[in-house]
Amino acid sequence: LSPRYTPRLVDKIEKLGGARYMFLTHIDDVADHRKWAERLKCERIIHSGDVVDITADVEWKLTGSGPWNIGSDFELIHTPGHTEGSVCLLYKPLKALFTGDHVAKSEYSDELNLFRMYSKQSVNLQLDSMRKLLDLDFEWYLPGHGYRIRYEDVQAKNAAIESLLANYKN
Ligand SMILES: [Zn+2]
Repeated sequence: LSPRYTPRLVDKIEKLGGARYMFLTHIDDVADHRKWAERLKCERIIHSGDVVDITADVEWKLTGSGPWNIGSDFELIHTPGHTEGSVCLLYKPLKALFTGDHVAKSEYSDELNLFRMYSKQSVNLQLDSMRKLLDLDFEWYLPGHGYRIRYEDVQAKNAAIESLLANYKN
């Protein structure tokens, strides 16, 4: 995902000191990524599983299953299922996980939702990717669409994942 390119948002980011990297969670909705990269002179990151024509010129293509660290504050976790190259970004200082379209909360329930109707890969693969999130220390889900979620603590975050996994077993 990439935000729509708008001069106002560019100005704001430049006032904050610019950007060194632009991380693309996956291939969908990335229409403006080149404009951002040209203006901010930042290095774009995407997983090689989601490299197609429109992302072929991305500077940093992740390969394999990671995880990858950027400094000590960021960790990238390969979470295939929605797409082959879906990757979540953990921002450790705020205990926040940017999920792209891997997982979010739906409008009508507090439960986690995989939005399987939009997924390009198997449910088992996407569930395996959910299991990876059990090992991570975060309390916020910040999805590309849908609703963000904040849990009280890591235990509550993990209970919600276990509940999702159990629902798919039934
Ligand atoms: Zn998507």
